[in-house]
Amino acid sequence: METIMWSAQIPRREEYDLIVCGGGIAGCAAALCGARLGRRVLLLEKSTLLGGLATIGLVNYFVPMCNHRGRQICRGMAEEFLRLSIRYGYSTLPDAWKDGEPEEAVSAPYQTEYDPWLFAMQLAELLDDAGVRILFDCRAAHPIAEDGRIAGIVTDSKSGFAFYPAKQVIDATGDGEIAAKAGVPTVDGRNYFSYFPREITLDSCRDAVNSGKIHRAVKTFAGGGANLYGGGHPEGMPFYVGASAEVTSRYLLDNQRLIVERRRSDPDRGSRELVSVPMMPQFRTIRRIDGDYTLHEDEAYVHFDDSVAAINDFDRADYVYEVPLRCLTRRGFSNLTVSGRCASADGYAWDVVRVIPPAILTGQAAAVAACRAMDEGCAVSDVSIRAVQKELERQGAGVHFDDSLVPDKIDRSAMRVNKL
Ligand SMILES: Cc1cc2nc3c(=O)[nH]c(=O)nc-3n(C[C@H](O)[C@H](O)[C@H](O)COP(=O)(O)OP(=O)(O)OC[C@H]3O[C@@H](n4cnc5c(N)ncnc54)[C@H](O)[C@@H]3O)c2cc1C
Repeated sequence: METIMWSAQIPRREEYDLIVCGGGIAGCAAALCGARLGRRVLLLEKSTLLGGLATIGLVNYFVPMCNHRGRQICRGMAEEFLRLSIRYGYSTLPDAWKDGEPEEAVSAPYQTEYDPWLFAMQLAELLDDAGVRILFDCRAAHPIAEDGRIAGIVTDSKSGFAFYPAKQVIDATGDGEIAAKAGVPTVDGRNYFSYFPREITLDSCRDAVNSGKIHRAVKTFAGGGANLYGGGHPEGMPFYVGASAEVTSRYLLDNQRLIVERRRSDPDRGSRELVSVPMMPQFRTIRRIDGDYTLHEDEAYVHFDDSVAAINDFDRADYVYEVPLRCLTRRGFSNLTVSGRCASADGYAWDVVRVIPPAILTGQAAAVAACRAMDEGCAVSDVSIRAVQKELERQGAGVHFDDSLVPDKIDRSAMRVNKL
């Protein structure tokens, strides 16, 4: 490729203890946790609302945070954010979970839908009140890295480029953009043809009135309708791989053209209105780091000495996992931690780790580890893991699953304990 050299003198702004790149659900948890630990935190978000896929991406559904038998697994800020998401809007939370974990086993899962736009604004209020400095419409453009240490982040906004020095950086961009630019090895995911805008129809409005449930007025209207497992991906269509503007634009054009085409040929088109469309590409797995450890699907029921989050498989009852801190770090990059869907997990384990509740928990864990690294003056991979776990436990986030949750059919003697 032909290249050009470009250099520019840009303003150096105030220093932050922690810069969080990306204000998706993981970045919100990380920034909030950092601020609550008394740090000066800067949160950079390229869009104009917080929450990422969980709000502007129209994925407004907390997947089950339990073992599907009435025991809660995802706790900490996952619990706090779920409750916040339904505080002032509608919810589809089962009655059994209204007041917390039920006393008896129930099959109704701990899950809910919520108003994505309101939740985005509630997150902004929460973080603003906690003292997080939020810069909207401001892209984390590039890390300035020297000898494996990130000195700070160059931002790109309407006022031009600026440099913000940082002691610690968390990449919560959803696609490991900052880590990749700093030189961390990464792995690309492949994405199916999924694009789910929302519409109202005269029928859906009637349904809402008759049922008294406002969310029934809004229906999902698929462009590309592929599911998590690729079902519905058009035969012969290539997968969308990578984070380039070309790939993203092709995906957006393919979907937007399909929606217009469907509407053009719809005899009922006068009775419908598109009311919201995803404001970011609905790619599930774009790019993740190849971290110090990569979690695999067959590691359900494995305890890790350096676990920082106990999580569950949203789809399968009983499956519980632990996420080692090493999934969020890469040795040689001393003050960089990742969170959310760029954590190091592969195959189906990536799906389990990236959904909303675990993404929140890895955000929270990344911030605790980053703050600890500041205190200990060491690389984030070398922090005292017990101190990180104790702090997470103090914050109500479970770091190890309870062995009593492991179903009898699992041979407990074969359960592994993964030493550091
Ligand atoms: C089609 C689809 C359906 C899904 N369904 C569900 C579901 O039902 N339930 C569920 O729990 N999960 C679901 N998920 C997964 C879940 O929504 C995401 O994995 C999760 O929300 C990821 O959160 P995140 O914070 O890691 O990343 P993101 O949500 O991607 O957040 C990243 C944020 O960073 C910002 N950003 C990116 N780059 C920069 C930059 N350089 N500078 C500044 N800001 C930047 C983005 O604007 C965004 O706000 C689904 C995902 C998809 C695609």
